[in-house]
Amino acid sequence: MLVGVPKEIKNHEYRVGLTPESVAELTHQGHGVVVQTQAGAGIGASDADYQAAGATIAPDAAAVFKAADMIVKVKEPQAAERAMLRQDQVLFTYLHLAPDPDQTRDLVKSGVTAIAYETVTDATGGLPLLKPMSQVAGRMSIQAGATALQKAHGGRGVLLGGVPGVQPGKVVILGGGVVGFHAAENAVGLQADVTILDKNPLVLERLATHFGARARVLYSHKAAIAEAVASADLVIGAVLVPGAEAPKLVTREMLGTMKQGAVLVDVAIDQGGCFETSHATTHADPTYIVDGIVHYCVANMPGAVARTSTYALNNATLPHVVRLANLGWREALAADSHLRAGLNVWRGHVTCAPVAQVQHYTL
Ligand code: NAD
Repeated sequence: MLVGVPKEIKNHEYRVGLTPESVAELTHQGHGVVVQTQAGAGIGASDADYQAAGATIAPDAAAVFKAADMIVKVKEPQAAERAMLRQDQVLFTYLHLAPDPDQTRDLVKSGVTAIAYETVTDATGGLPLLKPMSQVAGRMSIQAGATALQKAHGGRGVLLGGVPGVQPGKVVILGGGVVGFHAAENAVGLQADVTILDKNPLVLERLATHFGARARVLYSHKAAIAEAVASADLVIGAVLVPGAEAPKLVTREMLGTMKQGAVLVDVAIDQGGCFETSHATTHADPTYIVDGIVHYCVANMPGAVARTSTYALNNATLPHVVRLANLGWREALAADSHLRAGLNVWRGHVTCAPVAQVQHYTL
């Protein structure tokens, strides 16, 4: 199979569909890979790196889309890219179709077989191709919070780990799922004073077993949140209620109980945010202050660490890419119900129930 990797064109997207190492794996297994020139520039991978891995370099996106049997990307195809898709092609990337009827319409019209990273499942009921980005965002949330806590960034001038003889900073993490767990790992690693709150008893048990005395693990209810937030230096918002808007766990009123210069990092901003005073920000201007509390609410945190994010994403996507290339989409999807759950559009039909429902397509 000939696999194509175009350069991402979405605003400020620096990741790339395949790393040179992933390309080497595919060429080693007898497949061809065509990579658009400069596609890896954002992760520090040159055309020469891809050529060394066995890829051929195409001068533009049109040449990649024209030649490839399967396109592997990161972000949903933009309008110009959708115009180049065709019936006998497979598209494997993040799609997020539900809120994007224009994209659904174009994919349906193209006849492409579109498999979305975000709806591929695993045996535990998880979403394994979304997980790496939550891991990145969780770990990054502590870095972002630590920076915002510095005086020059509007914070209260607290070093999270403290130093011998001085108390460490207090980190409160709301939600102990993938984001929350990885935030806690980094906060504990810095020797901060860490509290994690969640509602799910199984999650609480897992966190308590893992962190032991290194973190406080509490059941999340209004009173516990209010008490923890009032004494926090850094609060991480990491809750998710699947399919729903994030619950507003920290109200504007509660900001008045917090220490001036404390920091809120709302990772859940892509689901509307879990602080009442959150609104989405960008990497170019990531923070703002409400009632003396610094807010960091960047909706695409992993984009800032494109190299780590691309490698993390490829660790999860490559086995599927290889299987699709080895078996062809028909046999690969027939053999694996979890990969099949990723099929969103097939030959002019919407095949993902929630997308069909919300956009009125017949399954
Ligand atoms: P997850 O499902 O693994 O974890 C969410 C946790 O929240 C669960 O353990 C759940 O029990 C807990 N929860 C639900 N309601 C709660 C409540 N009232 N109090 C305390 N805990 C509660 O989800 P995740 O992968 O960790 O993702 C968390 C959020 O981060 C999602 O909204 C996700 O989209 C977002 N995210 C954002 C970025 C970004 O760049 N901003 C990147 C990755 C993920």
